[in-house]
Amino acid sequence: MTLSGRLADGAEFDAIRAIVDGARASDAAVGPGDDAAVLADGTVVSTDVAVEGVHFRAEWIGDAAAGERAVRAALSDLAAMGAHPVAVFASLSGPDRERLVRAGIGVRQGGEAFGASLLGGDLARADGPLTIGVTVLGVLDGRRPWRRSSARPGDVLWVTGDLGAAAAAVATWSSDGVPSDALRDRFARPAPRFAAIDALRTHLDPRAAIDLSDGLAADARHLAAASGVEVVIEAERVPVAPAAVAARSPDDALRLALEGGEDYELLLAAAPSDVGEGADGGEDAVRATSGVPLTRVGRVGEGRGAFLLAADGTRQPLDGGFAHWGAS
Ligand SMILES: [Mg+2]
Repeated sequence: MTLSGRLADGAEFDAIRAIVDGARASDAAVGPGDDAAVLADGTVVSTDVAVEGVHFRAEWIGDAAAGERAVRAALSDLAAMGAHPVAVFASLSGPDRERLVRAGIGVRQGGEAFGASLLGGDLARADGPLTIGVTVLGVLDGRRPWRRSSARPGDVLWVTGDLGAAAAAVATWSSDGVPSDALRDRFARPAPRFAAIDALRTHLDPRAAIDLSDGLAADARHLAAASGVEVVIEAERVPVAPAAVAARSPDDALRLALEGGEDYELLLAAAPSDVGEGADGGEDAVRATSGVPLTRVGRVGEGRGAFLLAADGTRQPLDGGFAHWGAS
Protein backbone atom coordinates (compact mmCIF):
# COMPACT_ATOMS: atom_id res chain seq x y z
CA MET A 1 0.00 0.00 0.00
CA THR A 2 1.22 3.52 -0.72
CA LEU A 3 2.05 5.85 2.13
CA SER A 4 -0.98 7.98 1.24
CA GLY A 5 -3.21 4.97 1.69
CA ARG A 6 -1.75 4.18 5.09
CA LEU A 7 -2.12 7.66 6.62
CA ALA A 8 -5.24 8.44 8.65
CA ASP A 9 -7.74 11.10 7.64
CA GLY A 10 -7.32 14.68 8.75
CA ALA A 11 -5.91 18.01 7.65
CA GLU A 12 -2.42 17.40 9.09
CA PHE A 13 -2.18 14.14 7.15
CA ASP A 14 -3.49 15.80 3.98
CA ALA A 15 -0.57 18.22 4.34
CA ILE A 16 1.89 15.36 4.86
CA ARG A 17 0.47 13.59 1.79
CA ALA A 18 0.95 16.77 -0.26
CA ILE A 19 4.62 16.91 0.81
CA VAL A 20 5.57 13.26 0.32
CA ASP A 21 3.50 12.37 -2.76
CA GLY A 22 5.93 12.11 -5.65
CA ALA A 23 8.96 11.68 -3.41
CA ARG A 24 11.67 9.63 -5.06
CA ALA A 25 12.26 6.13 -3.79
CA SER A 26 14.71 5.75 -0.92
CA ASP A 27 16.75 2.79 0.23
CA ALA A 28 15.72 3.42 3.85
CA ALA A 29 14.32 0.30 5.47
CA VAL A 30 11.30 2.14 6.93
CA GLY A 31 9.79 5.56 6.32
CA PRO A 32 8.14 7.92 6.01
CA GLY A 33 4.80 7.06 7.61
CA ASP A 34 5.91 5.49 10.89
CA ASP A 35 6.85 6.98 14.24
CA ALA A 36 10.45 7.03 13.02
CA ALA A 37 12.41 6.10 9.91
CA VAL A 38 14.86 3.20 9.90
CA LEU A 39 17.96 3.53 7.72
CA ALA A 40 19.45 0.56 5.92
CA ASP A 41 22.07 0.14 8.66
CA GLY A 42 19.41 -0.04 11.41
CA THR A 43 19.78 3.55 12.65
CA VAL A 44 16.39 4.92 13.72
CA VAL A 45 15.67 8.64 13.19
CA SER A 46 12.77 10.88 14.12
CA THR A 47 12.13 14.61 14.39
CA ASP A 48 9.60 16.60 16.33
CA VAL A 49 8.77 20.24 17.00
CA ALA A 50 7.31 21.86 20.12
CA VAL A 51 5.88 25.36 19.70
CA GLU A 52 5.10 27.72 22.55
CA GLY A 53 1.38 28.49 22.58
CA VAL A 54 0.62 25.21 20.76
CA HIS A 55 2.39 22.44 22.69
CA PHE A 56 3.20 24.33 25.91
CA ARG A 57 2.84 27.74 27.49
CA ALA A 58 5.49 29.65 29.39
CA GLU A 59 3.09 30.22 32.27
CA TRP A 60 2.61 26.44 32.61
CA ILE A 61 6.22 25.28 32.54
CA GLY A 62 9.54 27.14 32.27
CA ASP A 63 11.88 27.13 29.28
CA ALA A 64 14.20 24.40 30.57
CA ALA A 65 11.20 22.19 31.36
CA ALA A 66 9.80 22.89 27.89
CA GLY A 67 13.10 21.71 26.40
CA GLU A 68 13.12 18.59 28.55
CA ARG A 69 9.52 17.85 27.63
CA ALA A 70 10.26 18.31 23.92
CA VAL A 71 13.13 15.83 23.95
CA ARG A 72 11.17 13.27 25.97
CA ALA A 73 8.31 13.50 23.46
CA ALA A 74 10.70 13.14 20.53
CA LEU A 75 12.49 10.19 22.12
CA SER A 76 9.14 8.45 22.58
CA ASP A 77 9.00 7.93 18.81
CA LEU A 78 12.15 5.80 19.09
CA ALA A 79 10.54 3.72 21.85
CA ALA A 80 7.51 3.25 19.58
CA MET A 81 9.82 1.52 17.07
CA GLY A 82 11.41 -0.63 19.77
CA ALA A 83 14.68 1.31 19.48
CA HIS A 84 17.04 2.50 22.18
CA PRO A 85 18.25 6.14 22.12
CA VAL A 86 21.74 7.29 21.16
CA ALA A 87 21.82 10.94 20.11
CA VAL A 88 19.86 14.18 20.08
CA PHE A 89 20.05 17.31 17.87
CA ALA A 90 18.22 20.54 18.79
CA SER A 91 17.08 23.44 16.58
CA LEU A 92 15.81 26.38 18.58
CA SER A 93 14.28 29.65 17.44
CA GLY A 94 12.66 32.60 19.16
CA PRO A 95 13.26 36.24 20.00
CA ASP A 96 15.10 35.83 23.33
CA ARG A 97 18.60 34.30 23.35
CA GLU A 98 18.50 33.49 27.06
CA ARG A 99 15.27 31.55 26.62
CA LEU A 100 16.84 29.54 23.80
CA VAL A 101 19.79 28.71 26.05
CA ARG A 102 17.54 27.56 28.87
CA ALA A 103 15.45 25.43 26.52
CA GLY A 104 18.61 24.01 24.93
CA ILE A 105 19.99 22.99 28.32
CA GLY A 106 16.66 21.30 29.03
CA VAL A 107 16.93 19.36 25.76
CA ARG A 108 20.53 18.33 26.50
CA GLN A 109 19.85 17.21 30.05
CA GLY A 110 16.58 15.54 29.10
CA GLY A 111 18.36 13.48 26.45
CA GLU A 112 21.24 12.59 28.75
CA ALA A 113 18.77 11.19 31.30
CA PHE A 114 17.99 8.49 28.71
CA GLY A 115 21.57 7.98 27.55
CA ALA A 116 21.25 10.17 24.44
CA SER A 117 24.00 12.79 23.92
CA LEU A 118 23.37 16.19 22.34
CA LEU A 119 25.53 16.03 19.20
CA GLY A 120 24.53 19.21 17.40
CA GLY A 121 21.88 21.76 16.55
CA ASP A 122 21.16 25.29 15.45
CA LEU A 123 19.90 28.53 16.96
CA ALA A 124 18.03 31.27 15.14
CA ARG A 125 16.68 34.60 16.33
CA ALA A 126 13.12 34.98 15.12
CA ASP A 127 10.05 36.96 16.02
CA GLY A 128 7.33 34.69 17.25
CA PRO A 129 7.00 31.86 19.71
CA LEU A 130 9.81 29.84 21.26
CA THR A 131 10.11 26.84 18.94
CA ILE A 132 12.01 23.71 19.96
CA GLY A 133 12.86 21.28 17.18
CA VAL A 134 14.39 18.00 18.29
CA THR A 135 15.84 15.24 16.11
CA VAL A 136 16.63 11.92 17.78
CA LEU A 137 18.68 8.91 16.70
CA GLY A 138 18.39 5.40 18.07
CA VAL A 139 19.48 1.84 17.38
CA LEU A 140 17.66 -1.47 17.08
CA ASP A 141 20.65 -3.69 17.93
CA GLY A 142 19.67 -6.05 15.15
CA ARG A 143 16.07 -6.39 16.33
CA ARG A 144 13.01 -5.94 14.15
CA PRO A 145 11.39 -2.47 14.31
CA TRP A 146 7.79 -2.26 15.48
CA ARG A 147 5.75 -0.77 12.64
CA ARG A 148 2.39 0.97 12.63
CA SER A 149 1.52 -1.10 9.59
CA SER A 150 2.10 -4.58 11.03
CA ALA A 151 -1.04 -5.19 13.10
CA ARG A 152 -3.07 -8.19 11.87
CA PRO A 153 -6.66 -9.32 12.45
CA GLY A 154 -6.78 -11.41 15.61
CA ASP A 155 -3.98 -9.48 17.34
CA VAL A 156 -4.45 -8.37 20.93
CA LEU A 157 -3.97 -4.69 21.79
CA TRP A 158 -2.02 -3.56 24.82
CA VAL A 159 -1.17 -0.18 26.31
CA THR A 160 1.65 0.69 28.71
CA GLY A 161 1.14 2.80 31.82
CA ASP A 162 -2.04 4.81 32.26
CA LEU A 163 -3.68 7.59 30.28
CA GLY A 164 -5.23 11.03 30.71
CA ALA A 165 -3.00 12.67 33.30
CA ALA A 166 -1.16 15.03 30.93
CA ALA A 167 -4.45 16.09 29.36
CA ALA A 168 -5.96 16.59 32.82
CA ALA A 169 -3.09 18.97 33.63
CA VAL A 170 -3.76 20.93 30.44
CA ALA A 171 -7.51 20.96 31.13
CA THR A 172 -6.86 22.29 34.62
CA TRP A 173 -4.52 25.04 33.39
CA SER A 174 -6.97 25.90 30.61
CA SER A 175 -9.74 26.49 33.16
CA ASP A 176 -7.44 28.78 35.18
CA GLY A 177 -6.70 26.13 37.79
CA VAL A 178 -3.41 24.82 39.10
CA PRO A 179 -2.83 21.09 38.52
CA SER A 180 -1.48 18.87 41.24
CA ASP A 181 2.24 18.15 41.18
CA ALA A 182 1.42 14.63 39.96
CA LEU A 183 -0.56 15.96 37.00
CA ARG A 184 1.96 18.67 36.16
CA ASP A 185 4.77 16.13 36.22
CA ARG A 186 2.95 13.84 33.80
CA PHE A 187 2.61 16.75 31.36
CA ALA A 188 6.12 18.13 31.83
CA ARG A 189 8.04 14.88 32.08
CA PRO A 190 6.43 12.16 29.96
CA ALA A 191 8.38 8.91 30.11
CA PRO A 192 9.49 7.39 26.79
CA ARG A 193 9.10 3.68 27.48
CA PHE A 194 12.64 2.47 26.80
CA ALA A 195 12.66 0.56 30.09
CA ALA A 196 9.92 -1.73 28.80
CA ILE A 197 11.30 -2.52 25.32
CA ASP A 198 13.34 -5.59 26.17
CA ALA A 199 10.65 -7.03 28.46
CA LEU A 200 7.99 -6.42 25.79
CA ARG A 201 10.09 -8.19 23.16
CA THR A 202 10.60 -11.14 25.52
CA HIS A 203 7.09 -11.53 26.93
CA LEU A 204 4.81 -10.02 24.26
CA ASP A 205 6.81 -9.92 21.00
CA PRO A 206 4.74 -7.03 19.58
CA ARG A 207 4.17 -6.92 15.85
CA ALA A 208 3.07 -3.28 15.71
CA ALA A 209 3.28 -0.23 17.92
CA ILE A 210 2.60 3.51 18.03
CA ASP A 211 3.24 5.98 20.81
CA LEU A 212 0.26 7.88 22.16
CA SER A 213 0.96 11.51 21.31
CA ASP A 214 -2.43 12.46 19.82
CA GLY A 215 -4.52 10.34 22.23
CA LEU A 216 -5.61 6.70 22.27
CA ALA A 217 -8.55 7.43 19.93
CA ALA A 218 -6.54 9.25 17.26
CA ASP A 219 -3.52 6.96 17.50
CA ALA A 220 -5.73 3.86 17.33
CA ARG A 221 -7.10 5.30 14.07
CA HIS A 222 -3.54 5.83 12.84
CA LEU A 223 -2.62 2.22 13.67
CA ALA A 224 -5.79 0.95 11.99
CA ALA A 225 -5.19 3.03 8.86
CA ALA A 226 -1.52 2.07 8.59
CA SER A 227 -2.26 -1.65 9.03
CA GLY A 228 -5.46 -1.73 6.97
CA VAL A 229 -7.39 -3.28 9.86
CA GLU A 230 -10.18 -2.56 12.33
CA VAL A 231 -9.15 -1.65 15.89
CA VAL A 232 -11.64 -2.16 18.74
CA ILE A 233 -10.89 -0.60 22.14
CA GLU A 234 -12.90 -1.83 25.14
CA ALA A 235 -13.95 1.21 27.19
CA GLU A 236 -13.89 -0.64 30.49
CA ARG A 237 -10.30 -1.76 29.96
CA VAL A 238 -8.81 1.68 29.25
CA PRO A 239 -6.29 2.34 32.06
CA VAL A 240 -7.38 5.82 33.15
CA ALA A 241 -4.75 7.56 35.29
CA PRO A 242 -5.84 7.75 38.95
CA ALA A 243 -4.52 11.32 39.13
CA ALA A 244 -6.83 12.28 36.26
CA VAL A 245 -9.82 10.66 37.97
CA ALA A 246 -8.96 12.49 41.19
CA ALA A 247 -8.88 15.86 39.39
CA ARG A 248 -11.83 15.38 37.04
CA SER A 249 -15.03 13.33 36.99
CA PRO A 250 -14.62 9.65 36.00
CA ASP A 251 -16.38 10.30 32.67
CA ASP A 252 -14.22 13.34 31.96
CA ALA A 253 -11.08 11.41 32.90
CA LEU A 254 -12.03 8.61 30.46
CA ARG A 255 -12.63 11.20 27.74
CA LEU A 256 -9.21 12.73 28.44
CA ALA A 257 -7.63 9.26 28.38
CA LEU A 258 -9.16 8.63 24.95
CA GLU A 259 -8.87 12.06 23.36
CA GLY A 260 -6.41 14.12 25.40
CA GLY A 261 -3.11 12.90 24.09
CA GLU A 262 0.48 13.60 25.15
CA ASP A 263 0.68 10.56 27.39
CA TYR A 264 3.54 9.08 25.32
CA GLU A 265 2.61 5.58 26.38
CA LEU A 266 2.77 2.78 23.80
CA LEU A 267 -0.15 1.08 22.05
CA LEU A 268 1.03 -2.36 20.95
CA ALA A 269 -0.46 -5.14 18.83
CA ALA A 270 0.72 -8.67 19.43
CA ALA A 271 -0.38 -12.08 18.22
CA PRO A 272 -2.67 -13.80 20.73
CA SER A 273 -0.92 -16.45 22.78
CA ASP A 274 -0.99 -17.83 26.28
CA VAL A 275 1.03 -14.79 27.30
CA GLY A 276 -0.85 -12.41 25.00
CA GLU A 277 -4.17 -13.29 26.52
CA GLY A 278 -2.79 -12.65 29.95
CA ALA A 279 -3.69 -16.19 30.94
CA ASP A 280 -0.30 -16.83 32.45
CA GLY A 281 0.51 -13.29 33.48
CA GLY A 282 2.20 -11.63 30.49
CA GLU A 283 1.34 -8.26 32.03
CA ASP A 284 2.85 -9.38 35.30
CA ALA A 285 6.05 -10.55 33.62
CA VAL A 286 6.50 -7.24 31.81
CA ARG A 287 5.79 -5.28 34.97
CA ALA A 288 8.04 -7.46 37.11
CA THR A 289 11.01 -7.19 34.77
CA SER A 290 10.60 -3.57 33.64
CA GLY A 291 8.43 -1.85 36.25
CA VAL A 292 6.08 -0.72 33.45
CA PRO A 293 2.37 -1.61 33.78
CA LEU A 294 0.75 -3.23 30.76
CA THR A 295 -3.00 -3.45 30.12
CA ARG A 296 -4.93 -5.38 27.48
CA VAL A 297 -7.29 -2.83 25.91
CA GLY A 298 -8.80 -4.45 22.86
CA ARG A 299 -8.47 -6.40 19.65
CA VAL A 300 -7.60 -6.06 16.00
CA GLY A 301 -10.18 -7.32 13.49
CA GLU A 302 -10.97 -7.50 9.81
CA GLY A 303 -12.25 -4.17 8.55
CA ARG A 304 -11.28 -0.53 8.70
CA GLY A 305 -11.25 2.18 11.34
CA ALA A 306 -11.24 2.35 15.14
CA PHE A 307 -14.19 1.69 17.45
CA LEU A 308 -14.98 1.95 21.13
CA LEU A 309 -16.82 -1.04 22.62
CA ALA A 310 -18.96 -0.08 25.62
CA ALA A 311 -19.70 -2.38 28.55
CA ASP A 312 -23.25 -2.96 27.21
CA GLY A 313 -21.85 -4.30 23.95
CA THR A 314 -22.65 -1.25 21.81
CA ARG A 315 -19.90 0.13 19.66
CA GLN A 316 -19.28 3.56 18.24
CA PRO A 317 -16.59 5.07 16.01
CA LEU A 318 -13.61 6.14 18.10
CA ASP A 319 -13.68 9.86 17.30
CA GLY A 320 -11.78 12.71 18.84
CA GLY A 321 -8.15 13.24 19.65
CA PHE A 322 -5.74 16.02 18.90
CA ALA A 323 -5.69 17.53 15.42
CA HIS A 324 -3.74 20.68 14.48
CA TRP A 325 -6.24 21.78 11.85
CA GLY A 326 -9.34 20.05 13.20
CA ALA A 327 -10.90 16.81 12.03
CA SER A 328 -11.87 16.48 8.40
MG1 LIG B 1 4.70 9.00 17.49
